[in-house]
Amino acid sequence: MHITMIGSGYVGLVSGVCFADFGHDVICVDKDVGKIEALLKGEIPIFEPGLEQLVTDNVRAGRLSFSTDVETSVAASDVVFIAVGTPSRRGDGHADLSYVYAAAREIAEHVKGFTVIVTKSTVPVGTGDEVERIIRETNPDADVAVVSNPEFLREGAAIEDFKRPDRIVIGLNDDRARSVMTEVYRPLYLNQAPLLFTARRTSELIKYAANAFLAMKITFINEMADLCEKVGANVQEVSRGIGLDGRIGAKFLHAGPGYGGSCFPKDTLALAKTAQDYDSPVRLIETTISINDNRKRAMGRKVIAAMGGDVRGKTIAVLGLTFKPNTDDMRDSPAISVIQTLQDGGATVTGYDPEGMDNARQVIDITYAPDAYRAAQGADALVIVTEWNQFRALDFARLKSVMNAPVLVDLRNIYRHDEVTKHGFVYTSIGRPMNG
Ligand code: NAD
Repeated sequence: MHITMIGSGYVGLVSGVCFADFGHDVICVDKDVGKIEALLKGEIPIFEPGLEQLVTDNVRAGRLSFSTDVETSVAASDVVFIAVGTPSRRGDGHADLSYVYAAAREIAEHVKGFTVIVTKSTVPVGTGDEVERIIRETNPDADVAVVSNPEFLREGAAIEDFKRPDRIVIGLNDDRARSVMTEVYRPLYLNQAPLLFTARRTSELIKYAANAFLAMKITFINEMADLCEKVGANVQEVSRGIGLDGRIGAKFLHAGPGYGGSCFPKDTLALAKTAQDYDSPVRLIETTISINDNRKRAMGRKVIAAMGGDVRGKTIAVLGLTFKPNTDDMRDSPAISVIQTLQDGGATVTGYDPEGMDNARQVIDITYAPDAYRAAQGADALVIVTEWNQFRALDFARLKSVMNAPVLVDLRNIYRHDEVTKHGFVYTSIGRPMNG
């Protein structure tokens, strides 16, 4: 199969290289010239474990290439994926579909022969209808089938997720696309990944329903954590106690500073807006959004409380800035609000992140340190915001010797109370009693 991927970001690049690895001929297109020039030089513009090697191997094998030229690649393709961004629209929180529609217009101008156009970007219900309308309006002779195929990969484990998905959802209204999509995913289908065919609108909604449910699950355990603190219970044991119930499941039950990232915040908001427009509000999700928004600053206040209630003139070291480990993505990271709250309280913040500091510099104005210990130098408290592996075995004796005060706030519950306090630290975590 000849495949074009329009948009070579976290989703487009990973999907494109994985399709190439399956044996398809793939061209990843992006309008960002700098990104394509970097890729052509063998430089990977994002951090994602395993991605660099997979790109190198598939470029070398002649199955993967990069281009800014939509025309040649689209004209030669059987399948064109749209994997451009769908951020929140400024002002009202609806998904901004301008990039998707612009891509649809460009594709329409250059498409040749029967072509399957697949929306991989996360898009509200009805977007496929509009993409199809735009293509027919731009090029009435175009012979296309417009398909929805939402992506469920997680940053930080993107390649593994793409190659071993729990399911592949394909929404189509034109049966000619069915065999083409089956061919595209044949290697995974042979690996037993279920291919779920639905109508296009259903597929579009599945993606939002999945993300909204996961965001709600995280928010549920975060509220349980707050209650645990009040009643003297341990949220990790509550998680285990409920997660072992097969109807609930153990995943996404880790209490923390609130969800962030490039998907959950914008997708929950977009779903809530769509539902309001259809006069069928999703109140659980509206509430989830508002609880999570409040939580991020509340975590900043938690740090301030752990430091005696006043941080003016104090120095606070923050470990982990990205929204989760193993990515360099800073979009909607909880660290942004936590740090803002500390700065609003008059604190000076130093920070360290293994991969995210270049992106962090664009959004937060703090002092950046080259490692955890240099960040902690002279600090009145150390706060773990993102649980990178390298923060799981910190040398507390060394930290104590460089810090101004031995205070640790662990917003990811990666330590036990006793293993930290035995080094003379004052330890605060999420939803666990002092002996937890
Ligand atoms: P991204 O911002 O990393 O990448 C989007 C890319 O598209 C950019 O490089 C941009 O330059 C390019 N682009 C925009 N318009 C273009 C055009 N007309 N022609 C060519 N290139 C164009 O975004 P992302 O994180 O990869 O997300 C893409 C979509 O996938 C979003 O809808 C997102 O919600 C969804 N998604 C993301 C994830 C994730 O973990 N990041 C997971 C599942 C789904």
